[in-house]
Amino acid sequence: MGYLDFDKKARHIVSLSGGKDSTALAVYLKNKIPQLEYVFCDTGAELVETYEYLDRVESFLEKKLVRLNSGKAFEEYLDKHRNFLPSPMSRWCTAEMKIKPYEDYIGSDRCFSYLGIRADERREGYISRLPNITAVYPFQEDGIDRNAVYKILEDSGLGLPKYYAWRSRSGCYFCFFQRSIEWVGLLERHPKLFAKAEKFEQMGYNGGSEKFTWVKGRTLDWIRKNKDAIKESHRVRMEKQAMKQQHKTIHDVFSEAADQESAKRPCDICDI
Ligand code: SF4
Repeated sequence: MGYLDFDKKARHIVSLSGGKDSTALAVYLKNKIPQLEYVFCDTGAELVETYEYLDRVESFLEKKLVRLNSGKAFEEYLDKHRNFLPSPMSRWCTAEMKIKPYEDYIGSDRCFSYLGIRADERREGYISRLPNITAVYPFQEDGIDRNAVYKILEDSGLGLPKYYAWRSRSGCYFCFFQRSIEWVGLLERHPKLFAKAEKFEQMGYNGGSEKFTWVKGRTLDWIRKNKDAIKESHRVRMEKQAMKQQHKTIHDVFSEAADQESAKRPCDICDI
């Protein structure tokens, strides 16, 4: 049974992250599943570019994009966690600011949750442990790969989010999955947000001795002081990447050059 045969009386939801794959999925399913609901789990710490892109996506979809929010600011959660910054090993931000609002919104309803994992990817994405929620992968069923995603977005007129010029993924401005070059991008384009992230970092002491930083082993102050060197080494990686992959887009080249700095993947509900 394919995803188009699923129980029509159940709820069918696409959770948009503000990234290309979930957006392309919403566009792809728009006329296939008319009862589809669109939601965005807003941490309140997304980039202005993400909000702008989602406004455009919402008008393209001609349906309300429900913006879910936990009702608390990041600062309140940070206080609750005694200034212990979230990290790849401790993703309390995802659990509290993304997944909980999403699951609360669904409640006990029978729900099919559509994920934009592409046919050329191996990850599974966010899968709820709640028995009433079933994860669905239309791109995998239909063989939609990265190039097809670009085409869907280009044909729709939406294109890519603007932040892809300097950042490879969607998510919070302080996301710890960012590479150094992306922190430099934040510093140059959103200096106030960089300063805010730095303030959280400076609060992040564990009893005064051990310091938690957004980037493992480096403070944001170090990133600021070394931004020219970070840009130069990224430029060299971009050049090498571009020579190898002339058929790819500038976003791919940027992402893959950035990936060479760190192979860690962000949480999938934040970045699909
Ligand atoms: S985008 Fe990053 S910081 Fe924000 S909730 Fe997801 S993992 Fe946490």
